[in-house]
Amino acid sequence: MRKIWYWYKHQSFMLKITAGFILGLIIGLIFGPSSQFLAPLGQIFMNLLKMIVIPLIFLSLMVAVNHSAPQELGRIGMKILPVYLFFTAIAIFLGVAIAKMTNPSVGLTLPSDVSITVPESPSFISTIINMIPTNIVQAMADGNVLSVVFLAIIVGLPVLYMRHSQDQKQQEMGNTLMKFVEAANEVVLKILNGILQYAPIGVLGITASTIGSQGIDTLIALGKFVLTSYIGVILLIVIVYPLALRLYGVPILKFYNNIKEAVMTSFVTSSSLGTLPISINAAKKAGIDERIANLTLPIGATINMNGTALRFGVGVIFAAEIMGIHLGIPEILSIVIIGTLAAVGTAGVPGAGLIGMSIVFTQAGLPIEIVALTAGINALVDMIFTMGNVTGDLVAAKIVDQSEKRLLLKQSATKVTKELASHSN
Ligand code: ASP
Repeated sequence: MRKIWYWYKHQSFMLKITAGFILGLIIGLIFGPSSQFLAPLGQIFMNLLKMIVIPLIFLSLMVAVNHSAPQELGRIGMKILPVYLFFTAIAIFLGVAIAKMTNPSVGLTLPSDVSITVPESPSFISTIINMIPTNIVQAMADGNVLSVVFLAIIVGLPVLYMRHSQDQKQQEMGNTLMKFVEAANEVVLKILNGILQYAPIGVLGITASTIGSQGIDTLIALGKFVLTSYIGVILLIVIVYPLALRLYGVPILKFYNNIKEAVMTSFVTSSSLGTLPISINAAKKAGIDERIANLTLPIGATINMNGTALRFGVGVIFAAEIMGIHLGIPEILSIVIIGTLAAVGTAGVPGAGLIGMSIVFTQAGLPIEIVALTAGINALVDMIFTMGNVTGDLVAAKIVDQSEKRLLLKQSATKVTKELASHSN
């Protein structure tokens, strides 16, 4: 038994989750809905990830804050947001363009027997206001990621100031606190390593039950929608992201190779938030500065949804075709704006994109019954959209990381030039 465990532990993580995925796929295809009995294995995995995500964000962010200068934090925040918005908008355009080429709704008609309620659309301002928790414990208990990010920063900053205070007592207290936080962070990372050992089994459970429960009939009817979604996200990953990475001098294949475990996990779990612990791990491998990864990835997992945004683009064209509506450039531009805001408001959990899509449809005056039409195959498309989301978070983090490194290089070059000049004088 020990030997088997030793052997298992030393196999590559990617190999293990790929094996779990393929095995789950085979079981799901052979046993169909009865593969549901494996669902608890996946549920355990998701619970473990959810259990670790809040302490991980809080502690690693506190450590990150304490290893940076306050002005650096603000600069990183200001850099990452435009990158998120840019990719989100591009993804909607891409979704629209591809769907215009593939005509995903050919042969489908508006369903008359379904109805869903329109959710309230979260405004940008309310997202900001809700970030500030009225109850610290509840924010953590509810797993409200943006609030936890906010808390970690406002608790981390006073500790940082204490550690750099002139008063020795303050300094001591700050250092003791930080030692405690660093030690606790280490414990959380060790637990995460344990969870990663279980991941392949969890992946098997999720894949078998998801694939097994998808009706083949709905899949055939909506096959073009599924295909368009997959093509869209693949283009995002193989063309759009690499172009941006290239611009910042990142070796693309090496980068993708380093983040592949997070990409694969996002595909299987359909949850950006669930994948977050693994994304943070992957970012380290990809050479992204820990402070940048710890600060940006939790925010990215909640607000940066490029794959989901692409879904809105495909979905709108899908609906417009069913309704026989022609969308011109002004309509498409307004959909890009609505879609970007809806993507920011979409939570990084399985199925959240359907709610976002209802918001976009309502704003665009399209019948939300069409959203329900795609709900049957949502599990299948959610996987690829989440993959687009998580890859986008890591790409954005890498871009900011590169830009920070360039800045550092420039600053030290200027310093050297100044020093040389003063010497020669
Ligand atoms: N499942 C996606 C995510 O967690 C959100 C969505 O449903 O589009 O990133």
